Amino acid sequence: MRRFEGQHALVTGGANGIGFACATRLAEEGASVGIVDINAEAAGDAARRLSDKGLDVRACPADVTDPAQVSAVFDAFESDHGSIEVLVNMAGIFPSVPFADMTLESWRSITAVNLDAVFVTCHDVLPRMRRNGYGRIGNASSGVVKTGMFSSAAYISAKAGVVGLTRFLAREGGPDGITVNTIMPGPIATPQIKNIIPAGQTVEEAMAPLTSLQCVPRPGLPEDIAEGVAYACSPGAGFYTGQVLYIGGGDTFT
Ligand code: NAD
Repeated sequence: MRRFEGQHALVTGGANGIGFACATRLAEEGASVGIVDINAEAAGDAARRLSDKGLDVRACPADVTDPAQVSAVFDAFESDHGSIEVLVNMAGIFPSVPFADMTLESWRSITAVNLDAVFVTCHDVLPRMRRNGYGRIGNASSGVVKTGMFSSAAYISAKAGVVGLTRFLAREGGPDGITVNTIMPGPIATPQIKNIIPAGQTVEEAMAPLTSLQCVPRPGLPEDIAEGVAYACSPGAGFYTGQVLYIGGGDTFT
């Protein structure tokens, strides 16, 4: 399928993990893709790897918590391509911080990337999409919103905030042909997850408390999430908006 032929898509956090899988999938289905990532070197590497496969992908280095940087890279991408049809917000950080050790400063640094940045990018892109009467936005939340397990209070609160912000934006954009959905991954084996699991444990062992409760008892893959993002951001999903697309192996939490 090449559902994104002729479209232009920005993927934040696209240099690694789930964002990279989303950038790959959108480009493979025909989109010109901009990888918006704070790690300029990794964004350049990711864009090169995909360009080497014949895909139209470029690096757009930026810190998504900074409205000026976001505006500058979105402007440049839009003026080169003429329009932005798709925005996927996958940038995220999830350091493990025990509640007793959390300061207001660490709370703010975690919510800045996981929630504030979603406001920043959506606030910037919405008028651009509105001008074209078309847009698709997918925002990353997390299954930790349901379980309350892992990471930190700030991360879980920020990811819950993404659900509310997305619902608001779905109402805001709906009359103008813009859909906005939350993508809620369950436990996914990405490099960042590998960095935070306890020494001596495999990803499978570390994730077992969660994956053992899933109908499909394995950690998810970045491609599992890209599949859902591709649906939610496709032209055919014009009547699907304001929803939480949970992709987590069918766990038995509520
Ligand atoms: P990852 O660390 O592999 O990738 C995140 C990317 O975001 C990195 O390339 C990083 O450089 C970029 N980034 C971080 N801060 C940024 C900033 N200020 N500006 C621009 N880019 C920034 O993470 P991942 O595991 O692929 O997770 C992707 C998204 O999915 C995140 O929002 C995460 O919270 C969410 N999520 C992940 C899991 C999981 O199990 N991996 C589960 C649920 C939700």
